Amino acid sequence: MSLIENIIRSDIRALAAYHVPDASGFVKLDAMENPYILPDALRVELAQHLANVAMNRYPVPSYATLKAKICATLGVPAGFDVVLGNGSDELIAMLSVACAKPGAKVLAPLPGFVMYAMSAKFAGLEFVGVPLNQDFTLDKVAMLSAIAQHTPAITYLAYPNNPTGNLFDADDMVDIIRAVGDRGIVIVDEAYQPFAQASFMPRLAEFDNLVVMRTVSKLGLAGIRLGYMAASAALLVEFDKVRPPYNVNVLTQAAAEFVLDHVDILDAQAAALRDERTRLSAALAALPGVEVFPSAANFLLIRVQGRGKSADDVFSKLLERKVLIKNVGKMHALLENCLRVTVSTPQENNLFLDALIASLAL
Ligand code: PMP
Repeated sequence: MSLIENIIRSDIRALAAYHVPDASGFVKLDAMENPYILPDALRVELAQHLANVAMNRYPVPSYATLKAKICATLGVPAGFDVVLGNGSDELIAMLSVACAKPGAKVLAPLPGFVMYAMSAKFAGLEFVGVPLNQDFTLDKVAMLSAIAQHTPAITYLAYPNNPTGNLFDADDMVDIIRAVGDRGIVIVDEAYQPFAQASFMPRLAEFDNLVVMRTVSKLGLAGIRLGYMAASAALLVEFDKVRPPYNVNVLTQAAAEFVLDHVDILDAQAAALRDERTRLSAALAALPGVEVFPSAANFLLIRVQGRGKSADDVFSKLLERKVLIKNVGKMHALLENCLRVTVSTPQENNLFLDALIASLAL
C-alpha cells in the first residue's frame, strides 16, 4: 500500500474535489456574488478603519461586538444570539461534527446545496437525499416518510433553495420541523434572504429545534467569509464547542463591523438586484426554447431545450463568448438541461442575454 492508501480514508480518496473554475477574463455569473462594491468615499474610510486593526493580535474569541451588531442589524430576534463561521460553509461543517454520533444521518431535499452532503460525509454521517417534486416544491409526503424512517439528526431546508431558486411552502416547512421534533435539528439556510424578503428568523422562538443560518456572502461580502447561525442558547453553547477559537479573522471582523453600520447601502444593492431579476427573468421567458423558473434568490434557473440545443452546448458556447455561468444539467435528474445564472448589473445581464441569444442561434 502507498502512503496515501495507508493514511487517507478510502471514501475521501474516492471523492472529486469541489471544483471552482478560473473565471479570469470572464463575465462572472456562476457564484451568486453581488456585482456592486461600496461607494469610493466609504472604501477610503474602510481602509482607514482596517489600518487600525491590530493584526499582531489574535481576535478576541467572544466576538461580542460583531455578534451584537449582527443581531441588531440583521433581524435576529431579541433574546437570541448567533455563532459565527468562516462562511456558512464552516457552520455546516461544525454542525456535522457536533452531531456525528455513530449512525447519525443528515437529510435534505435534492437538488440542493452540495455542501450539506459533502460535509456530512467528511464527518462520517450518512446523507439521505429526498427528491423534490418536478416543479421543485417540497415532496412533503416523501420528506415526512424519510424523517420517520431515518430519524435524521440534521435536516437542511434552504430558503430559498439553491440551485432551484424557489422558496418552499412555509407551512410544509413547519410540518417538517414539527415532525423532526426533539430527535433532530432543522437548519433553515437563508443564504439568499436579502433577495427573498421571507424568513424564519422571526419564528425562532416557536421551535426549540430550529436553527436559522445565514451568510453575508450574497449581500456583497463574499470575500470576507462570514456566516452566522441563530438558535436557542442551549444549542448554540454546544455548536460553539466545535468552533475553532479564532475562526473569524480580525480583518473580517473589522470589515463586517464597519459595513454593518452602512447596511442600508447593501440593502439598496439587493433591491436593485431584485428589480434586475424581474427584468432578466421576463427577457429570458420571452426567448423561444427557454424556460425560466420562479426565483426568490439572486440567480435564475433556466432550462434550455428543444431546437436541438442542450445545456452543455449552450454552456460551452457561452464560455466561448467569455460568459461563465453554472451548468447544473448533470447535477440531478430533475435539472436536465438546466443552467443557473447569477443576476448582476444591467450591463452584465445584457451581455449574458446577448451571448445566450447567440448561443441558441435564435
Ligand atoms: N448555503 C447555500 C444555500 C448556498 O448556496 C451557499 C453558497 N453557494 C452557502 C450556503 C455557502 O455560503 P458561504 O460559505 O459563502 O457563507
